[in-house]
Amino acid sequence: MEQLNTDPLKRVEEQLKKCVKCGACRQNCPAFNAFQREPAVARGKIALAQHIMTDDIELDDQTYLAMSKCLLCGSCVEKCPNDVPTDEIVIAARESLAKKRGLTTFHSAVGQVIKNRTRMKMGAKMASLFGPLFFKKVPESSGLRLRFPMPFIGNKRFIPQIAAESLIDRYPEVISGEPGKPRIAFFVGCMTNFVYTDVGEAAIALFRHLGCTIIIPKGQQCCGLPGMSGGDIATVRELAERNLEEFEKYEVDYIISVCATCGGALHRLYPLVVGKRNPELRDRLEALAKKAVDVSQLLRELGLEPSETAGEKKLRVTYHDPCHLRTSGVRKQPRELLKGTPGVELVEMDGADKCCGMGGTFNVYHYDSSMSINDSKSEAIISTGADVVATGCPGCMMQLSDGLKQHGSNIKVMHTVQLLASKLKQ
Ligand code: SF4
Ligand code: SF4
Repeated sequence: MEQLNTDPLKRVEEQLKKCVKCGACRQNCPAFNAFQREPAVARGKIALAQHIMTDDIELDDQTYLAMSKCLLCGSCVEKCPNDVPTDEIVIAARESLAKKRGLTTFHSAVGQVIKNRTRMKMGAKMASLFGPLFFKKVPESSGLRLRFPMPFIGNKRFIPQIAAESLIDRYPEVISGEPGKPRIAFFVGCMTNFVYTDVGEAAIALFRHLGCTIIIPKGQQCCGLPGMSGGDIATVRELAERNLEEFEKYEVDYIISVCATCGGALHRLYPLVVGKRNPELRDRLEALAKKAVDVSQLLRELGLEPSETAGEKKLRVTYHDPCHLRTSGVRKQPRELLKGTPGVELVEMDGADKCCGMGGTFNVYHYDSSMSINDSKSEAIISTGADVVATGCPGCMMQLSDGLKQHGSNIKVMHTVQLLASKLKQ
């Protein structure tokens, strides 16, 4: 196992040297667009990471703030002529900062919450019960707005309602399917479990329709990605290990996720951030990653064919690519599913693959910048004249809903699986 006193940046030292400071990464960097300052772009963060590694910079709040201005969207990695993995470097720099000067109060609290499913469940229950005291319902929408400003939330933001009962509590652990059909484990993810439970219900309905056996391990945990934003890799490792144990209990063909971020954790970040430095976990995490697929990939592979409900009006739908699906190369599958759905007309928006500004805790930490990144996304969606914007990530759904409402639009935000499930023949 890696020595506790090893600077995580040492692991990416060679990659740091590959940056030739050409600036090609400025193009399409949402953080640079929002802050218009060199430290926000990949090149600036790489220079800062080098100083953090060599300890020739003061590790003050400004250093921390500069490193927090990244959505880990991966656009710079795609644009870099030298294949510099800036997202990996930013993760290592945040971990290095956390080791050298400790976690921030905010990230320490995030770690405490995501490590404890029972506490999270209690919090969701309380929020669902007492929400009306703090939030008011927004007319003609299913969103909420705070009655008064609160730290990290403000009162401009539109927030989705917390479900009265979590998705995992609504279903048995095993939903048996037809013999010979695939066995699927469902990595639910916190947003789907506590907020967008209808997204999880839609995915379950689709795989039941296909005759699959669906397993929803009761002991599954948060994927841990919110901890990664603050450099809390110990929490990410703990959660990766607990999820590993839980999903290894069952023999399955696939592990599906309806959340691009959770899918990105299982598929790429667990092996990269946890597996690389923990040889005792590496093979097991890689085996887990091989089975992990996005829901749209598997529905496409299994040949889902929704049927049109008679007499229904044609829906004009546009699709937003979540960053963690784009960087995993999952772009055509959701579009093919939507195009193959009777009654759906798919219209492309400008910049469909550009980040919506969510970036996990970036949206909490830098809310105004997050919404300024979202402006062009909202405008692009509105200009398609679509009835619905579909996407593959509950985090993006929340951000897109907030942005569209703040732009005065009532365009409906849906997960691709909700749209597909709504077209299934009853
Ligand atoms: S594009 Fe790549 S090589 Fe060029 S400045 Fe950005 S990170 Fe460095
Ligand atoms: S990962 Fe995204 S936000 Fe971060 S530096 Fe690269 S392009 Fe900018």
